[in-house]
Amino acid sequence: MTVADFAVQAIVARALMMTFPNAVLVGEESADALRNEETGEVLGAVTKFVRTIHGDARGDLICDWIDAGNGEASGGFWTLDPIDGTKGFMRREQYAIALAYIEDGAVQFGALGCPNLSLNGNEGAILVAVRGAGCYLVPDPGRAPERLRVSEVSDPSQTRLLRSVEAGHTNISQIDHIAERLKITADPVPMDSQAKYAALAAGTGDAILRLLSPKRPDYKECIWDQAAGSIVVEEAGGKVTDLLGEALDFGHGTHLTANTGVCVSNGRLHEALLEAVAATSPA
Ligand code: AMP
Ligand code: MG
Repeated sequence: MTVADFAVQAIVARALMMTFPNAVLVGEESADALRNEETGEVLGAVTKFVRTIHGDARGDLICDWIDAGNGEASGGFWTLDPIDGTKGFMRREQYAIALAYIEDGAVQFGALGCPNLSLNGNEGAILVAVRGAGCYLVPDPGRAPERLRVSEVSDPSQTRLLRSVEAGHTNISQIDHIAERLKITADPVPMDSQAKYAALAAGTGDAILRLLSPKRPDYKECIWDQAAGSIVVEEAGGKVTDLLGEALDFGHGTHLTANTGVCVSNGRLHEALLEAVAATSPA
């Protein structure tokens, strides 16, 4: 958790509540640690950043804005990962601000902000997807919005595979076995956060595998780590399932308890990937 996680949740939650006063928001962060802090040092730093946007922000108000994200994950609700890929953010590599709207267990809207990802000549990328209406790249001023489409790669050996940087978030040796089995020629590309989903939606990668880390074999994904990314890919023509080929089910609260891992692709490569996952699964 960084100062940025708190500051972004405060800013996005406030904006959402101003626009939709009755919105229910499930954010990754809560202000408990800030309210209980003895020195007030972290809250002071958060306040400094929030004031670059809201000049009159105070610590107590900021805590309230952050805690607007303590809603219940059921019915129709928003979910926010203020900084997805905190480790990538700290390394000044890829990270994403991920916001999605979920209704009755299915994602209906998603937005990804990826400040360090360059797509189609834009510096930094904002992607927006609406169920049934496509996935678009929000352009730099003066340029038209661009509809995004996944790649057309259908030969498994040509797959450009994207994976987590953090070894503890996946199974790197199984990914290597899968690449071997599919005779994939290019090395898997490590990238933090849902920026991977943005790259895949824009056609600059073909598949993402979120395998289970041997250290966390029972890990269940958090909804804010998958919701925006999954609709962005689907609306660009791609496919998102768990490692057994099941659709992701966002109807079980804050975690994807009915699913195991995630397999993301341009669609054409999906069956080959699932087969390779099954064939290489750790016992
Ligand atoms: P990535 O950058 O793709 O590795 O994904 C980052 C997200 O992985 C973080 O937001 C965490 O919530 C999540 N995460 C944390 N621990 C694990 C784990 N053991 N397996 C999979 N994902 C994890
Ligand atoms: Mg995250």
